[in-house]
Amino acid sequence: MTRAGLHGLLVTHLSDLRYLSGFTGSSAALALTGRAARLFTDGRYIAQAAEEVNVKAAQVQIVSSSPAVAAVQWLAAQSGVEFAGFDPARTTVAELTRWKAALPSHLRRSFLSALAAPLVEPLRWVKDEEELAIMTEAALLGCSLFDHILGFLRPGLKEFEVAAEMEHQARLLGAEGMSFETIVASGVRSALPHGRATSAPLPRRGFLTLDFGVILKGYCSDMTRTVYLGTPKANERNAYQAVLEAQEAGVAAVSAGVRCEEVDEAARGVLRRAGLAEAFSHSTGHGVGLEIHESPRIGAGQTTRLLPGMVVTIEPGIYLAGQFGIRIEDMVAVTRTGGQVLTPAPKALIEL
Ligand code: ZN
Ligand code: ZN
Repeated sequence: MTRAGLHGLLVTHLSDLRYLSGFTGSSAALALTGRAARLFTDGRYIAQAAEEVNVKAAQVQIVSSSPAVAAVQWLAAQSGVEFAGFDPARTTVAELTRWKAALPSHLRRSFLSALAAPLVEPLRWVKDEEELAIMTEAALLGCSLFDHILGFLRPGLKEFEVAAEMEHQARLLGAEGMSFETIVASGVRSALPHGRATSAPLPRRGFLTLDFGVILKGYCSDMTRTVYLGTPKANERNAYQAVLEAQEAGVAAVSAGVRCEEVDEAARGVLRRAGLAEAFSHSTGHGVGLEIHESPRIGAGQTTRLLPGMVVTIEPGIYLAGQFGIRIEDMVAVTRTGGQVLTPAPKALIEL
């Protein structure tokens, strides 16, 4: 805050707020100054806030109106706080209008200042040991789900039945929920990078892409495996092999100090040499944590350097419209000397 020239900071994005305070409720705002921190929430969360928020870190105040409005008014009333930052990427125009209207008229113009760059999010990019332990557990839960679903898959099952089984099983294994809508894309639909599960029946012969993740203690997992129903043709087997090699090259390139674009290129180069550059239509991966998509982005032109403790996905894929698609995705924790794969489920082509 000092470096950004700020006296005060308003935090409303719930993942940021959770990261700083421990509060997991769905309605809150956190106000910070150089001297104090106060979390505002509503009456539904009296007990939960008392339990989750360390009082040494932040005082809790229950309000009957908007927590963010109360936080802005509190910041404006603190001595020495002439203006306060907020994250414009996480604020709607309507919210900003409401916050300004709640300020004394002489402060409306200048008190709230849009941050040029987020302040809290970068703190979340590097995970500490406790976070890494939770994420490892979440990733392993994802692997157990994959293992379970292999015994369930058969031609004729509808894609949404596969998704439902995975989601049901995830809850039974202790997940708080799925980190995004489960992707089940079979046959020609596997050529859709984000094919949502539909009522389409699994074919007797063809690829099946499963991209899914669970939430555990607030942290997301994310993994993709593509399996084959029946016996693949030679061109399908070769295509799978190319994606697997690209994925492994991407994983092998992960290390502290490496630029994200270099990791992307490690994977992309393999597919380019296989004549599949055009078919790889997205970036290689993304950060993951309290949110399913965080920085850094593992893509072309991304010069951010990986730091120990970052957790990123490596997920190259190819999509041949009208034919098939293949994607393989692991979560990888960046270490000083390389990358540690958190999702050790089998990657050699599984034929069912
Ligand atoms: Zn995924
Ligand atoms: Zn992903």
